[in-house]
Amino acid sequence: MTLTAQMRDDIVRSVEDGFAAQVEFTGALVGFRSNRGEEHTIQDFIYRALGDRGYARDRFAMDPEAIARHPGGAPWSDTHSEAPIVVGIHRPRAEAGRSLILQSHLDVVPAGPRAMWASDPYVARIEGDWMFGRGAADMKAGAAANIFALDALRRIGLEPASTVYIQSVVEEESTGNGALMTHLRGYQADAVLIPEPEDEMLVRANTGVLWFRVEVSGLPVHVREMGSGTNAIDAAYRLVGALRELEARWNAKKADHPHFADLDHPINLNVGRIEGGDWASSVPCWCAIDCRIAIYPGTDAGAAASEIRDCLAQFSRADPYLSNNPPVVTFDGFHAEGYVLEAGSEAEAVLGRAHEEAIGTPLQSFTTPGYLDTRVYALYDRIPALCYGPISRNIHGFDECVSLSSVQRITTAMALFIAHWCGVKPIDKA
Ligand code: ZN
Repeated sequence: MTLTAQMRDDIVRSVEDGFAAQVEFTGALVGFRSNRGEEHTIQDFIYRALGDRGYARDRFAMDPEAIARHPGGAPWSDTHSEAPIVVGIHRPRAEAGRSLILQSHLDVVPAGPRAMWASDPYVARIEGDWMFGRGAADMKAGAAANIFALDALRRIGLEPASTVYIQSVVEEESTGNGALMTHLRGYQADAVLIPEPEDEMLVRANTGVLWFRVEVSGLPVHVREMGSGTNAIDAAYRLVGALRELEARWNAKKADHPHFADLDHPINLNVGRIEGGDWASSVPCWCAIDCRIAIYPGTDAGAAASEIRDCLAQFSRADPYLSNNPPVVTFDGFHAEGYVLEAGSEAEAVLGRAHEEAIGTPLQSFTTPGYLDTRVYALYDRIPALCYGPISRNIHGFDECVSLSSVQRITTAMALFIAHWCGVKPIDKA
């Protein structure tokens, strides 16, 4: 059935009618402390929410061996989450339109020191248009929008005319293995939409990301004999210097990558964590740094990892201490390649139309220099992978928040997108 102007207006109003409940649901998601490895109960909550709505459901564990065999799989480490992946499935009696995956991740990055937040990061707080809390924007608002966009159709007696999968994954912030697992499980559709906080724009291109750990160990001595000792923390600093030079070399190649040429600094190396030493008056005999670096789309993750190893090995050979104590480099997280959403797909045109109907402005696209799960669908399913979501502030920082009026606009655009892409029909009677 074609979407009439009346139905369009009804969908807009229906999102509005459900919005108070949607905000409450989003706040409940923020209340789960779903740090890496602690997402079991939030996944249970989503599983129940999908069951309450009558969706068929699938809940499964990640398969470390299948992930290890896949080129986009990241290494399994001690801190890898073992929370299940949850999928809700809408299957119409007869399949008419184009199928769709609505995906979100419910793992969040650590909140950091509580004192840096104006209020408890795991208690949703609303002030004016903003909902504050760790994960409010990245991406619990999007997870709720996936469910409530479909609820909005149902409230007016409509449902998608084709199969829709609602995927709730984990490990988006550390490996991307959760999204990869949905692919390995066999889920396929004609398009995917992931409502990450993208400021009401569509992601055109996105870097890949690698995680690695560099460990240095040396000989401990008393500080008064420091000349004879070797300071592992100092050595780690020198290695960071070598990595900064690699980062500069990669950034200097941005002109070779059309979507990245206009960014100031597309390749960011982050030394995100450091530990080492035992005591202020002993020369430290060990130090470890955890690092994250981006790679351009089209760059092979394995080749980039080799370049990092070579860079550190070459620097170490010329360093008096490191040449005798070469650093140990371990790749222990993201091993992900970037992607480009090629312009001109039908899915993008339909999203553009829905966005204009909901928000009244043309849909803009942009390039992001960070990891996104969309890469799994773009690279391995080879389907249009749309990353598009609400306005936010301070994601991964302190006082993270999402604009609630923007969430409502995005949910409206999503409901209209689903209606145009999948088609709609009256709800099947049981
Ligand atoms: Zn995210």
